[in-house]
Amino acid sequence: MGLHHESNTFVSALTDRRAIEEAGIFRGEEVRRRYASSRSTMAGFLDVEAEGTARVEPLLFTFPNPRGPIARDQFDQLSAEMIELLRRGLPWDGVLLAQHGAAVARGHLDADAEVVERVREVVGRDVPIGVAADLHGNISARLVAASDVVVGYRTNPHADARERAFECAALVARMAGGELRPAQSMVRVPMVPNILCQGTSDEPMRSVYGALEEVLRTPGMLSASVFEGYPYADVPQMAMACLALHESSLEAAREAALTLGAVAWDQRQGLRWREALSPAAAIEEVLRFEPGPDGPLVLLDVGDNIGAGTPGDSTVLLEIAVRRRVPSFLVSLRDPRAVDACRAAGPGARVSLFVGAKADRAHGRPVPVEGTIRTLSDGRFEDPTPTHAGMRFFDAGPTAVLECDGGPTVVLHSKLIGNVSLEEHRSLGLDPRRFRAIVAKGVNSPRLAYEPIASRLLFVDTPGASAADLSQLAYRRRPRPLFPFEEAAGPEVLI
Ligand SMILES: [Zn+2]
Repeated sequence: MGLHHESNTFVSALTDRRAIEEAGIFRGEEVRRRYASSRSTMAGFLDVEAEGTARVEPLLFTFPNPRGPIARDQFDQLSAEMIELLRRGLPWDGVLLAQHGAAVARGHLDADAEVVERVREVVGRDVPIGVAADLHGNISARLVAASDVVVGYRTNPHADARERAFECAALVARMAGGELRPAQSMVRVPMVPNILCQGTSDEPMRSVYGALEEVLRTPGMLSASVFEGYPYADVPQMAMACLALHESSLEAAREAALTLGAVAWDQRQGLRWREALSPAAAIEEVLRFEPGPDGPLVLLDVGDNIGAGTPGDSTVLLEIAVRRRVPSFLVSLRDPRAVDACRAAGPGARVSLFVGAKADRAHGRPVPVEGTIRTLSDGRFEDPTPTHAGMRFFDAGPTAVLECDGGPTVVLHSKLIGNVSLEEHRSLGLDPRRFRAIVAKGVNSPRLAYEPIASRLLFVDTPGASAADLSQLAYRRRPRPLFPFEEAAGPEVLI
């Protein structure tokens, strides 16, 4: 089960009942139907049944879009329901939790640890608890102490959610059978890498995860994880964390976690920043670009990183593209009001609208456009190929495609979905390869989908609730000292 949420404390819109209902709460066998054929964490938990030694009973799972913190009433209700389901099913041989690791609820700054501790209270000390978490969680010692096995993804974009969750579930199954009593260590690294530096195939982060692969070759090492940390949740546990799980020796686990911590710490200067273009420079680059068989330029809209909790309606790049008359420019925006207007007008109709930037004032201004409604759809699509975090079924709500005079094609969604699948556009009859430039709102999450078709990816330093320049964020709760904001002393063993 799991209450999987990445919470951006710099976003004012809470993850309230509506946001959670938009994502859906899946219970019992619904979880299996929804996730078993995906490549997500839940699918990895269910995979352990194929071993023939364990049966998995799904209880409850919800994966609301990243946004502001979880509203207090929603956290209380969902966690109470999870605990009640767990209590009703006692006794359990083991518990598997799919938490993100960067969840914040009103009243609970460490919502993930809160869930794990409540689970521990119900099942007691002897029942193994496994947590499969996202690699950019802010993992706390509280969470690690309350669980037996914590496994993080090892790729960003996340291509291995299913594999890591299976790893976690298989270890818990072995513990439940009495075969294993492993030792888990945690080392805190007092730094937070910039979001632009969190891709695991880019140096220097690549070297950190390379060291992880080395550590896994140590005899008796069952698992190891590097959690990058999440700079948009202003919480006391914000930091990188390195974990290691050894079959018997806490000392060996500590040595491994310290090795990983030292590698990450040594790379800290290279994890502060990477070059990103200003929005105006990115659009100039698009105008200079000669479209060809290698595909479009993909502009990564860093400030409106939907996977990091932003509204998905930034018009910063669209506004310049309209002004500079960029031909063949594709962008999607969450704008339910504009969708309603398009639906009222009907396919083929001409409309004149202000699109985007309606959720708040941090992501540009609504942009006036005129054009023709090319397509209306229910916004549902499916992608069986690898996507970020392994999701398969998507629901963008009622959707309209607006071909604007002068060049841009604007896809208007009613619900928030990340730009993580080419099917978002193909299901609407648009071929993303044929555009000169596409805006993908995110930093790493769009890369699995877009890297294979992009001539080049351009990181664009747009303003917004996930802006790359962390010095602009008004932190109140993060720990101090924390690199790169302050100098710090280096890795420390917490467990
Ligand atoms: Zn993630």
